[in-house]
Amino acid sequence: MTAVAGRPVVVIGGGLAGIAAAVKLADAGCRAVVFESRKALGGRAGSFLDPRDGRLIDNCQHVVLGCCTNLIDLYDRLGVLEKIGWHDTLYFTDGRGEVDTLRASWLPAPFHLVPSFLKMGLLSRPQRRHVLRAMWRIIRLGTAGRLRWREQTFGEFLNHCRQPQEVIRKFWNVIVTSACNLGVERVSAAAALKVFQEGFLGNRFSYRMGLATVPLAALYEPARGLVEDAGGEVHLGTPVRAIAFDGTRVTGVITSDERIDAAAIICAVPFDRLDTLVGSAMRHADARLRLPGRLEVSPILGVHLLFDQPVMSLPHLVLAGGDVQWLFNKGMVGDRQYVHAVISAADEWMGLDHNQIVERVMHDVHRALPESVGLQPAEARCIKERRATFAATPDAVASRPPVSPVHAGASAIENLYLAGDYCDTGWPATMEGAVRSGYAAAAAITGEGGLVQDIPPGIAARWLGLR
Ligand SMILES: Cc1cc2nc3c(=O)[nH]c(=O)nc-3n(C[C@H](O)[C@H](O)[C@H](O)COP(=O)(O)OP(=O)(O)OC[C@H]3O[C@@H](n4cnc5c(N)ncnc54)[C@H](O)[C@@H]3O)c2cc1C
Repeated sequence: MTAVAGRPVVVIGGGLAGIAAAVKLADAGCRAVVFESRKALGGRAGSFLDPRDGRLIDNCQHVVLGCCTNLIDLYDRLGVLEKIGWHDTLYFTDGRGEVDTLRASWLPAPFHLVPSFLKMGLLSRPQRRHVLRAMWRIIRLGTAGRLRWREQTFGEFLNHCRQPQEVIRKFWNVIVTSACNLGVERVSAAAALKVFQEGFLGNRFSYRMGLATVPLAALYEPARGLVEDAGGEVHLGTPVRAIAFDGTRVTGVITSDERIDAAAIICAVPFDRLDTLVGSAMRHADARLRLPGRLEVSPILGVHLLFDQPVMSLPHLVLAGGDVQWLFNKGMVGDRQYVHAVISAADEWMGLDHNQIVERVMHDVHRALPESVGLQPAEARCIKERRATFAATPDAVASRPPVSPVHAGASAIENLYLAGDYCDTGWPATMEGAVRSGYAAAAAITGEGGLVQDIPPGIAARWLGLR
């Protein structure tokens, strides 16, 4: 479908999927009308005003990796790429008082991280050998081999590779839980294998970690201008109440104030909001709308801590084998140091109250940051995101709907496109996955553009099977 003259393309949802779709539509000269129920763009990857003190708080630290080529492209289009600070060294501790570093050496991929990995004191020499043996299997599996594991969990893969429990706890589980928001016992092996194959092994650049140096909300502000310059509109604080459907095609959207006709609709709301917009007739007509009903959610807990004195000098720290997976140094707020603790796959934390959470988090903070021992935070703010992402189990991965009706088989509404991190992009529920879905939806409508190429695997990595 290339011609959308006259009526606009309506984008429902102004998270990263909706922003990406609208920006790509604008780039193709197509009029996009975006409806976002909140007062700001960014969705789960945005910021919000804390009603308690009016401070702008990021909805958790959001990490971008070098392999997130589409997200980086979006930042570039928005003119905010220089607001991402890149880190070539990843810091790990298991609370022994020492910090291990992971950083690329001069060796080609997939060996670039091996020299620093061999120095990691948090694993004993035999434990490191176990990891390297499993990594070798992961390399040799290639992409085709990865797909053969799609019905099993990564825990099953690790058992197949005879990984000891302690190695799983201190190494595999920490990385996988952070990347996929699900522990090794439940996460799809294909999803976790992708993280290692493409994030750490394929080339020298993918593992680099980017952190916003401004509040997350500031990254998305330019999107509005780009959409409006192409004749489009962005309506904030305007939830769509329903999608109009004539039995064959979607014809527009209904808000509390008006009905807007649409040539096509990109529905970029989270999967668990879809049912509020589509009725049974639409679900009957489009098999894609039935699939998200099979997905479960996985929570993330973010704990914002302010200390009266400096406690952390590194930019970030991964806690191996702890309850908290990451600590981020968010700099100084006045004369207080701001540290952000992140716990992914945080199911067991959801029932805890504020004091219980802070006590448990501080136990890990004291282990990881010697300067904090004996101190308590002057302020603490716990943010539970119960519905942070879908849970990437093997069943869920098979239930992710395609973005475009063309890829949905016979039963699909031809001018309805889905976008969101739950769509079948092959990526975990991440900002990159969301942007890919938005780009793919816009490209399917305009016939222009498409996805940005992945960073190709290095020659040695390709030769060994990583392609
Ligand atoms: C705590 C937390 C930490 C995370 N950390 C990372 C990380 O470090 N790195 C990473 O890559 N990813 C991370 N993620 C995942 C990432 O935030 C998401 O994958 C991504 O932002 C999803 O974007 P989306 O556009 O698909 O959905 P959303 O961001 O949920 O956007 C959907 C939008 O639709 C709007 N909406 C809903 N219903 C309606 C309606 N009826 N009408 C109009 N608008 C509507 C919502 O308000 C929302 O803005 C994290 C997520 C959470 C929750």
